[in-house]
Amino acid sequence: MVSFYPGPSRVYDTIPAYVKDAVKEGIVSINHRSPEFIALAKKTDRLLKQKLSIPKNYTILYTSSATECWEILAQSLSGEKSYHLFNGAFGKKWFDYTVALNHQAEGILFSREEALHPEEYVFPYQQALICLTQNETSNGTQVSNDILKRFRSNNPGAIIAVDATSSMAGIFLDFKQADVWFASVQKCFGLPAGLAVMVCSPKAIERVRNLNERLHYNSLPAMVNMMEVWQTTHTPNVLAIYLLMRVMEKQESIKAIHKQTQARFKQWKDFIQKQKGLSLLIENSAVQSQTVLPIISDPFNVSLIKSKAKKAGYILGEGYGDLKSTTFRIANFPALQTKEIKALQKFLSDFKSK
Ligand SMILES: *Cc1c(COP(=O)(O)O)cnc(C)c1O
Repeated sequence: MVSFYPGPSRVYDTIPAYVKDAVKEGIVSINHRSPEFIALAKKTDRLLKQKLSIPKNYTILYTSSATECWEILAQSLSGEKSYHLFNGAFGKKWFDYTVALNHQAEGILFSREEALHPEEYVFPYQQALICLTQNETSNGTQVSNDILKRFRSNNPGAIIAVDATSSMAGIFLDFKQADVWFASVQKCFGLPAGLAVMVCSPKAIERVRNLNERLHYNSLPAMVNMMEVWQTTHTPNVLAIYLLMRVMEKQESIKAIHKQTQARFKQWKDFIQKQKGLSLLIENSAVQSQTVLPIISDPFNVSLIKSKAKKAGYILGEGYGDLKSTTFRIANFPALQTKEIKALQKFLSDFKSK
């Protein structure tokens, strides 16, 4: 079975060998206060920064999931006011979790074919947290690096937080243009679920210290203090951090991966255009996600394609929410192999000609 589900998705073929190594080297039993863990934390930090082009002065924290990151930001950084701009299910969930903890959170809905105009969003609370979903996995749209940059220049006092769960490690993200970025590793990182990274700018760290929220086990001031000595507040998923380190060690630079993702996306797009009865859900090329492709068809086709694909050995992503019956989603994540993509495309074109 090859999983084209946009998360959890196919993991790298190297994972079983790395797990074996972790057992052999005793990683699975190391203490999270030990010199061995500290060395692992330092090395992983260095590799992530090097391979993903994250500025050296940013701080990388570990959590268990992107959902935990939403909650952490709500409790420790939403402060007086947070603005949530979203056009799909993940951005909405982030807003819902935040408003449950902080009634000052404000949701701003935009449509999925719309490219945001940051000039329209100059917010009165300059100390606010602005929350954007870089890659909306539910509908296959994205917010470009350039738009993020303009949000930042229009709101210089704000902290910009970006959910990049289904794009980080798959496309180039300009980390300088926002203050908090997070992603869980079961999407573009090609790793098993159970770990997420949160990447914070010096400005975000300064805001964390000023707000100094300390009510929770995962309050940010405590997490930041512990990571200053290369540790975590509680026993983390050490195996997952080790696997992340091993994958990053072998990984090409994000610039090279970005090129491949872009080329594969373009090829997918050309392929879909040639298939009768199938189209990309998102028509505006300015907002099309390059890592998650929702494909729209009639409900009969969609359910037949999904079930036949499963029998043929391919797991496709379900459509999300009100798009469930009319769409299916295909991950364009780096761990998928070219021959697997070709085989799925052959399956889809054969299916259509029947
Ligand atoms: C998958 C996903 C999440 C949730 O990730 P978890 O690791 O399950 O918490 C959040 N945001 C986006 C954009 C996602 O794609």
